[in-house]
Amino acid sequence: MLDSVHQAIQGQIERVLPEVTQWRHHLHQNPELSYQEEATSQWIAQTLRRLSLDEVREGVGGFGVIGSLRGTAEGAADGPTFALRADMDALPIQEENEIPYRSCRDGVMHACGHDGHMATLLGAAMVLSALRPLLRGTIRFIFQPAEEVAGGAERMCADGAMEGVDAIAALHGWPGLEVGQIGVRSGPMMASADTFDIVIEGRGAHAAMPHSAVDPVVVGAQITLALQTLASREINPIEPVVVTVAQFHAGTAYNVIPGKATLQGTVRCLDPELRKTMPERLERVVAGICSALRAKYRFTYDFGTPVTNNHPAIVHLIEEVGRELLGPQNVITLEAPSMGAEDFAIYLQHAPGAMFRLGVGKQVTPLHTPTYDFGDAPLPYGIGVFCHLAFRYLQDAPLSAGGL
Ligand SMILES: [Zn+2]
Ligand SMILES: [Zn+2]
Repeated sequence: MLDSVHQAIQGQIERVLPEVTQWRHHLHQNPELSYQEEATSQWIAQTLRRLSLDEVREGVGGFGVIGSLRGTAEGAADGPTFALRADMDALPIQEENEIPYRSCRDGVMHACGHDGHMATLLGAAMVLSALRPLLRGTIRFIFQPAEEVAGGAERMCADGAMEGVDAIAALHGWPGLEVGQIGVRSGPMMASADTFDIVIEGRGAHAAMPHSAVDPVVVGAQITLALQTLASREINPIEPVVVTVAQFHAGTAYNVIPGKATLQGTVRCLDPELRKTMPERLERVVAGICSALRAKYRFTYDFGTPVTNNHPAIVHLIEEVGRELLGPQNVITLEAPSMGAEDFAIYLQHAPGAMFRLGVGKQVTPLHTPTYDFGDAPLPYGIGVFCHLAFRYLQDAPLSAGGL
């Protein structure tokens, strides 16, 4: 049975691959920025409608699109729902690739490979819709806008994207892995990402008369340095945490001490409990230094994307599928999580799931660079892992009905 399913899936992948490759080129050529993915959204909905799914929902949480496919195998009506997610937005970068399907929009390109993620998910939808009689449950295909600005997932979930979903998976193209490899990790895979704003209110004066000023530049500099001691002196050194002051604005002239300075930055953690303590820690340092140096302050801390916490059972399933499909040597266990963030984390607060990395080749330049290209070669591997994973999850009734 499993062998014949395997063959059926692989046969369908071969059949759909030329068209899916064209789709990726179309998407790559027509990138749209976060919250502006209107044409992409319409095009995905049209493409999904051609696949005779049971439902295609547009306008989910903005420009999101959701396709739903109900299997017809015995017991499918009572079976679980497995979701697969792709992100849709591009980045404000001028493409430098010399390729026939180069971006036709100046200053906008798919430098994070979301064209490849969308094409992979459409390919999986095409393959699985042809294998409906084998599916013992429902598969939901989630196309999400605005990942790069970490707002899309929240809106999608608020608009019901995860209602009735038992588990979810997603992939990200990864230049650190060869084509035909995947990278997996149980537990925290990406960090939480929060932001903070500090306004230091001092007193402006002539730059030659510092004694009559309360200099917010000096106060801000002390705060910037002191915040580094949270990671280096206050929090256990084996606990990963990043505090970065990324913006420091003050002043307008060579000879004027300004009255105000603003600091803005980001905090990254892998432990949700530690994360909760960070606003107090930051504000204590800000308040102490401002008090010592006679300045006033305003402090705001915004909790953003949570930790991307991969569920061990779903990771295990991805590993199993990967070993069978790609060979054990091509399933790479990631040694360390990344302190980058991914808004897929939001879905994981609604159901267990996991994100894995899909190799696009080590010769490919890093994500978010003007020469990044997801490429065509990873497509069949991404589609293969998605399809086998979805099939196996629906098939494995004890897993879906029990522990998760
Ligand atoms: Zn990105
Ligand atoms: Zn991305």
